[in-house]
Amino acid sequence: MHRPNTDTFRHQGLRKKLVKQLEAKGISDPLVLGALERVPRHFFLDVGFEEIAYEDRAFPIEADQTISHPYTVAFQTQLLEVKKWARVLEVGTGSAYQAAVLAEMGARVFTVERQRTLYDQVRTFQWLSKKYPMIEFFYGDGYAGQPTYAPFDRILVTAGAPHIPEKLIAQLKVGGILVVPVGEGDAQRMYRVLRVSETETKEEIFGEFQFVPMLKGKT
Ligand code: SAH
Repeated sequence: MHRPNTDTFRHQGLRKKLVKQLEAKGISDPLVLGALERVPRHFFLDVGFEEIAYEDRAFPIEADQTISHPYTVAFQTQLLEVKKWARVLEVGTGSAYQAAVLAEMGARVFTVERQRTLYDQVRTFQWLSKKYPMIEFFYGDGYAGQPTYAPFDRILVTAGAPHIPEKLIAQLKVGGILVVPVGEGDAQRMYRVLRVSETETKEEIFGEFQFVPMLKGKT
């Protein structure tokens, strides 16, 4: 993979334009919009996508996976209500763009990926680790969460899960929020699960989105 590594005024202008489009589509949290305006999405894609990196589209990355639509990233991040210093677990590192958006908002990010090629690729992305030393990368199965680093204030799943993964709820602090797209097949419904107490959760359901499936195991 060959990454672009200059962020020009033109790229910055395209990001501004993208943010305006996201605002028009209903994203209103200034912290989320600000983070999307600052993170250079084209750095997370192959140089072949540089010209179109700021269209509101998903793009292919390695291992048959995708970097989500900016709108989807913004929507999930907004539902997550990320605060500075929050401990956030992300399932599905992919390109690490979403992880960078969370880090840009001041979160401590723990992100797990089950595809070795993608994990290896982000580990060699030097600009990223220098810019966001608060992101920790793990190779493993997101269904298991990351028990060593639990509990988390927030958990974000960026692949379509067949059901709400129970182990993730167990790793959420009381008062914490889990955002997860749920559903098998072509479309998922976005769930926001609030852990109200040790034993209770409250669920809210938002619109339909399309994600690559959250798969079991590492292979
Ligand atoms: N957040 C990513 C988008 C990821 S697409 C970004 O910003 O680019 C979903 C990712 O979830 C893929 O990389 C896929 O390999 C990963 N994934 C699927 N099932 C998983 C699992 N069980 N555990 C961890 N990652 C998983």
